[in-house]
Amino acid sequence: MKGKRLGRVGSLVAPGEPDEGMQDKFAALGIANELDLVLHLPLRYEDETHLYPIAATPPDKVVQVEGTIIQSEVMYRPRRQLVCQVEDDTGILFIRFLNFYGSQVKAYSVGKRVRLLGEVRKGFFGAEMVHPKCHMVSADTLLPDALTPIYPTTAGLSQETIRKRIRQALAHSDQTGSLNEVLPVEVLKRYQLQDFRESVIFLHQPTADASVALLQEGTHPAWSRIKFDELLAQQLSLRLHYQKRRSRCAPALPEKNLLTSTLLQLLSFDLTGAQKKVLAEISSDLAKPHPMQRLLQGDVGSGKTVVAALAAFQAIKNDYQVAIMAPTEILAEQHYQKLSGWFTPLGITIAWLSGSQKKKQRQDALADISEGRAMLVIGTHALFQEQVEFNRLGLAIIDEQHRFGVEQRLALRTKAAKTGFVPHQLMMSATPIPRTLAMSYYADLDVSVIDELPPGRTQVVTKLFEEIRRDEVITRVRESCHAGKQAYWVCPLIEESDTLQLKTALETYESLTLTFPDLKIGLVHGRLPSLEKSAVMERFKQGSIQLLVATTVIEVGVDVPNACLMVIEHAERMGLSQLHQLRGRVGRGAEASVCILLYQNPLSENARKRLRIIFESTDGFEIARQDLSLRGPGQFLSARQSGVPMLRFADPEKDADLLAAARIAAEEILRDDSASAQRHLLRWLGNKSQYLQA
Ligand code: ADP
Ligand code: MG
Repeated sequence: MKGKRLGRVGSLVAPGEPDEGMQDKFAALGIANELDLVLHLPLRYEDETHLYPIAATPPDKVVQVEGTIIQSEVMYRPRRQLVCQVEDDTGILFIRFLNFYGSQVKAYSVGKRVRLLGEVRKGFFGAEMVHPKCHMVSADTLLPDALTPIYPTTAGLSQETIRKRIRQALAHSDQTGSLNEVLPVEVLKRYQLQDFRESVIFLHQPTADASVALLQEGTHPAWSRIKFDELLAQQLSLRLHYQKRRSRCAPALPEKNLLTSTLLQLLSFDLTGAQKKVLAEISSDLAKPHPMQRLLQGDVGSGKTVVAALAAFQAIKNDYQVAIMAPTEILAEQHYQKLSGWFTPLGITIAWLSGSQKKKQRQDALADISEGRAMLVIGTHALFQEQVEFNRLGLAIIDEQHRFGVEQRLALRTKAAKTGFVPHQLMMSATPIPRTLAMSYYADLDVSVIDELPPGRTQVVTKLFEEIRRDEVITRVRESCHAGKQAYWVCPLIEESDTLQLKTALETYESLTLTFPDLKIGLVHGRLPSLEKSAVMERFKQGSIQLLVATTVIEVGVDVPNACLMVIEHAERMGLSQLHQLRGRVGRGAEASVCILLYQNPLSENARKRLRIIFESTDGFEIARQDLSLRGPGQFLSARQSGVPMLRFADPEKDADLLAAARIAAEEILRDDSASAQRHLLRWLGNKSQYLQA
């Protein structure tokens, strides 16, 4: 949907005002038009509607008092500060400013009447306010009759300015009728929703008798209305997106039973029940003439690759090409090897594309792809670059989809332009999305879940070791390697700098080489040329490397079943999903596996919580749920990843009731009153819905 601008952008800046850069500042807040201003709602409120007598101010609470300055001086001990005494009928209060301008010294002179907002504390001189909000008044200055809203802002944009613009925007849009109700009355009635206009006006200018507590908690009916609206807009746009997808054409790729089983026979194992179930879901989607958009979720090691391979096989047997994209070269290479083992014996040609391959190889691969000789194409981000032209792409598979952005998924889809079809899309992820989030942000995707691990896996035992017990860890590694097993040693994560990360990896490798003169040790890190990277991985797979020192490049996908010990250094620095993924590199064979988390004290509160969660649980869904509650949805998902503008007011977890209501309402409104749906979307998403293309 293309957003029509409501109200001129020019109206953000009042005529004749110095507005250099003002527009940019509003833009930084996501405000482009009048309605955006109306929906820029306060973070919190200050109560300036009444005055406390100085002698009766409650402690630890923001209060307002008013009085006359009876003394004012700049003091130099213990440090330079402006100290004034303010008196009302009941008592005296000190106010202190540690940073102040000369003009303030003049302004706060004896005899002036001031209104102060702040917390009263017991200070050196007596009751005091430090850096109160302060303005000059006269004896007859009225008190405001609404709570004062405090808005989210950005550097250089004062509360005063935002407040003023919002007041203007509210008044103007009220005049033009753009605050009028757009939802059907039955919906408002059923969910007991307050009127929209009334709600926004109230939230911007709550009356003096409003409960600050309800407002602050966001449980006030005015907030409920706004949150419902926001969730409804999200549901409407996702549903429309879903419908639009259903109206596009994809090649129908029906299952050819017998042929699928030739690949199945090549496998050394039977599919698990869960794999069969998700495969049936994918297979039936592929048979339809509309593009599939399915998210395949399954915990680390649940066997998503083989499901992807079978889906690819179904497409290829219908004479359509398949692209498989992975976020790292190591993982893409591993897929290439594994799938070559399955597909080459069946006479299917596979092309390999990566950023670092030689020109000649690349040109050959590109020709194989565009001329349709290669039916399966495996690679990294290199897959959606411009020069890559498919002959007839029918299915795009994106592994570890959470590592890619929406634009990238979109780019891959346009690769089928030549056929006039939109390809089917299968996205895979081992970072499960908790149900509430999936219901909101991913409402347009179909989701399949592999909820069972292949048989014979042993649980990975997780152990926490403080850094000072490093020697014990070293002994374990040595014993395990001498017993014929292999191990990973994950280097500390240095997020700030690639160069430092490299240095740390090299140092770790060197010191471990000294520690273990008796072991064959390899090193793999992100900066290693890809040929060397794959050579190292190959030697590890073959068993000629016993201990693999690695950065987090091995985080996703790597599959070496004989490796059953992992040491993670400075585990306290890593995020939960990263730890879970890393740990998933062991426990892939029948051997009992151990993951040792080395950590260094002191631990931050959050680091302690993360380590406890990863120690207590091996279930990816449970870990994701806890991760979400630790970090909140904004950190957990980014708009870039989900493809949907992030919710600003509602929280799918906390507002689960409203979310459920919005889901039902969205369906009804689209069915019964599509004009109302359009008006609602315009109000809430305006021009922000371009994301929904993905
Ligand atoms: P992930 O879901 O993390 O991508 P993989 O697809 O890499 O997991 O599978 C992990 C390992 O399990 C691989 O070695 C794979 O060959 C093996 N595997 C997959 N499915 C089964 C099965 N049904 N029975 C036994 N082993 C399986
Ligand atoms: Mg995988």
